[in-house]
Amino acid sequence: VKRLHSNEGSEILPRPPVVTVMGHVDHGKTSLLDALRQTSLAAKEAGGITQHLGAFVVSMQSGASITFLDTPGHAAFSAMRARGAAVTDIVVLVVAADDGVMPQTLEALAHAKAANVPIVVAINKCDKPGANPERVKVQLASEGLALEEMGGDIQAVEVSATKKTGLDILEEALLLQAEMMELKARVDGPAQAYVVEARLDKGRGPLATAIVKAGTLICGRYVVVGAEWGRIRAIRDTIGKLTEKAKPAMPVEIEGLKGLPMAGDDIVVVESEERARMLSAGRKKKLDKDRLLKIGE
Ligand code: GDP
Repeated sequence: VKRLHSNEGSEILPRPPVVTVMGHVDHGKTSLLDALRQTSLAAKEAGGITQHLGAFVVSMQSGASITFLDTPGHAAFSAMRARGAAVTDIVVLVVAADDGVMPQTLEALAHAKAANVPIVVAINKCDKPGANPERVKVQLASEGLALEEMGGDIQAVEVSATKKTGLDILEEALLLQAEMMELKARVDGPAQAYVVEARLDKGRGPLATAIVKAGTLICGRYVVVGAEWGRIRAIRDTIGKLTEKAKPAMPVEIEGLKGLPMAGDDIVVVESEERARMLSAGRKKKLDKDRLLKIGE
């Protein structure tokens, strides 16, 4: 059946939020990501075995899901932003309840603010004897954070990554935040996606973890990724299962690129190999030129 309107595939639907975890060193970013990963139904179904893709999805009983970038810290966030990739919808700011606000907490706050990304606070290590979540809240308020219980709209949740408490409340808080943002994406049509991580596999060649921003990424298509190009030979989901397509906010690993892209690179679908080669060559030329300019400075 042929559609009557020309902007085929323009249906806009709600999409899961993409979340980055930031905070001071040792405040529990990695532990929290690990604990969250284990709450996912998909992880449970796969017997807890998931691929390390640089991103994972927590799917909930309600049918809702949340995509987490699995590279904690500010460097990854900044690198992506520097390349123009607005991948993150929400930042989880992790603050240890015993340690309180520290220099990198403030740095994370500044990053989120500069990127105009809303924050949900996770006060971690609440199981510790020295935990003082109320003190953390006062500290954050004095940094200008308008916490919900003080009349603002920033949610703060008390958790323990090691005891696995408060995780469901944190997930609910993230879904609520996402709901307020009314995150939506075009589901059909050519994909617009970003690389969140890339690595070279001995047997399979360059592999990139991608998150689709809009449209559907389909196996077999020619793509230009940053300055590289390729034809997607395989798409795998976070449990390593081969799939034909990737929809918005679903992290997938793509195989078939000719070179190694970088985190933050955009993925554009093109109609032919010729076009892919041409675009890639053009972008490489521009990169070289920019590099020379930098050296000349
Ligand atoms: P990151 O540097 O922010 O990624 O912090 P890590 O996740 O590596 O955690 C730093 C240390 O704090 C590790 O020894 C963790 O076991 C510990 N830790 C993390 N979360 C908790 C928690 O909820 N409770 C307690 N008691 N320890 C925690």
